[in-house]
Parts: sequence; structure tokens; C-alpha cells
Amino acid sequence: ALEVRDVTKTFQVARSASGNNRLRALDGINLAVGRGETLGLVGESGCGKSTLARTLMLLEKPDSGTVAFEGQDPFGLKGRELLAWRRRVQMVFQDPFASLNARMTAGEIISEPWATHRGLYKTGREREARLRELLQLVGLRPSDAKKSPQEFSGGQRQRIGIARALALNPELIILDEPVSALDLSIQAQVLNLLNELQAKLGVSYIFISHDLSVVRHVTDRVAVMYLGRIIETGTTEDVFERPLHPYTAALMSASP
Ligand code: ATP
Ligand code: MG
Repeated sequence: ALEVRDVTKTFQVARSASGNNRLRALDGINLAVGRGETLGLVGESGCGKSTLARTLMLLEKPDSGTVAFEGQDPFGLKGRELLAWRRRVQMVFQDPFASLNARMTAGEIISEPWATHRGLYKTGREREARLRELLQLVGLRPSDAKKSPQEFSGGQRQRIGIARALALNPELIILDEPVSALDLSIQAQVLNLLNELQAKLGVSYIFISHDLSVVRHVTDRVAVMYLGRIIETGTTEDVFERPLHPYTAALMSASP
């Protein structure tokens, strides 16, 4: 399981609302995500969702507090151990087009993580077989490996992003607004794919979205963030049907 304990992260800013020049983006975050669990992370713009995601991807270092996978804190690790930790947590971003290199083919994009994690698939034959498997898993054709991102629709591009996130067989995938850039009908297809993959692979998700109906469709539990804190967590049904915190209730009633 992934465990986040008392994580605090501040940023240097020109001037914050509180009058000083430190902005507290994460303010004592506690969170646990069990194996195979899907956790929704919701809250208004600027509440710290992406900062938390970036911290779990080790792109931000907490000022205080710990992040651990089965008790192992990544921030003290080096070399192979750090690489092994990184393999376990992968991310899918909002805009597949912006986050994919337009000069690379879909096959190159999906298999790029293997260049850093060399031990995973040792021979070219193994990598080719795994690439075909990944394309199939996300509903793309083997011939799609040769195409460049601009030859795909938005939904197909997001499938490429998901295949890439799966390339290292992670235990947890953080999805930061993965369907927000897509048409509604395409959103449903991608969400159904995510649900299928979760059932098939037993992978955990942290699913970040401002769209509560989307969150409801894919998560077992929900954490509500407000000003850098988690103010409520519970089963998705409880949080939606019986919110405990007035902010959660307001958030729920503000969305269709
Ligand atoms: P959104 O729903 O709009 O994506 P969010 O919940 O993901 O919002 P974050 O991107 O985590 O919010 O930002 C949290 C706060 O931290 C915001 O006030 C933001 O301006 C600030 N912030 C984030 N990254 C930095 C940075 N590198 N430097 C300074 N401030 C930052
Ligand atoms: Mg964000």
C-alpha cells in the first residue's frame, strides 16, 4: 500500500493571501491507497491535487512528512532502489497530445520507459511482444505502433498514454484529469477501459478530476481536498450520498 503521512509542501510566491511569501500547497496530507484500490481526489482548482500527484511521482520533495510504499520512503533512496520505487508509481496526464512527443511513434512512446528500466524486458523480442500486448490491452491495433501521435484521435492518444503508464507494470497509476480534454462519449469509452484494466490487472488508481460524475464512475473511495488539506475521505457512495463536511456537500450540490 501507498502511505502518505503529514506531508507538507510550500512554494515561494510573490505574495500569498496570508500576506507572507510562502504558499502552503499541501498542509498535512494523510492518505493511504491499498493494493487494487481506486481513490478519487477531488476539490476546487488550486487545492493541491496536482502538487500531491507530483510529490508521489517524486517530482516535488515534501518540506516535511513521508511518502512510502510498503514502508519504504523513496526520498532517501538511490540507484537501483530508487528506480525500483519509481517503477511502482506511474502517471497519466490530462492532455495526451501535450505530454506525448510528436516526433515519436506510438510504439516508441509506449516503450520509452524501458530505456531507463532495462532489467524489465531484456531482449528486443520480449519488448516487441510486450508492446503488442500493451496495444491490445488498451484497444489499439499492432499497426498503430508505427503511427505518430497526430495520426490519432484524442481518445486514442489517451489510450497510448495509458499503455505507456502500464509499460512498467506499476502498482499505482495516478491519473490527473485524464478525460477532461475529451468529448463526453469518448470520456465514457476511456473510463470503461480504465475500469476494465483495473479489474484485469489489479492496479490501484488515484483518479484526479474536477468532474464528480467521472470520479463516481471509476472510484471505490474519494478524498476531498480543500486548501491543501484532505477534509473528508470515505467510500464513494458515502461521500456522494452522505457527505460529512459542509464543503463536500457544497461541492456535490454545485455539480450536476
Ligand atoms: P487544478 O484543479 O486547477 O489543476 P490543483 O488542485 O491541481 O488545481 P495545484 O496545481 O496542486 O492545484 O496547485 C496548488 C497550489 O500551489 C496553487 O495555489 C498553485 O498556484 C500553487 N503551485 C503549484 N505549483 C507551484 C509552483 N511550482 N510554484 C509556486 N506555486 C505553485
Ligand atoms: Mg491540477
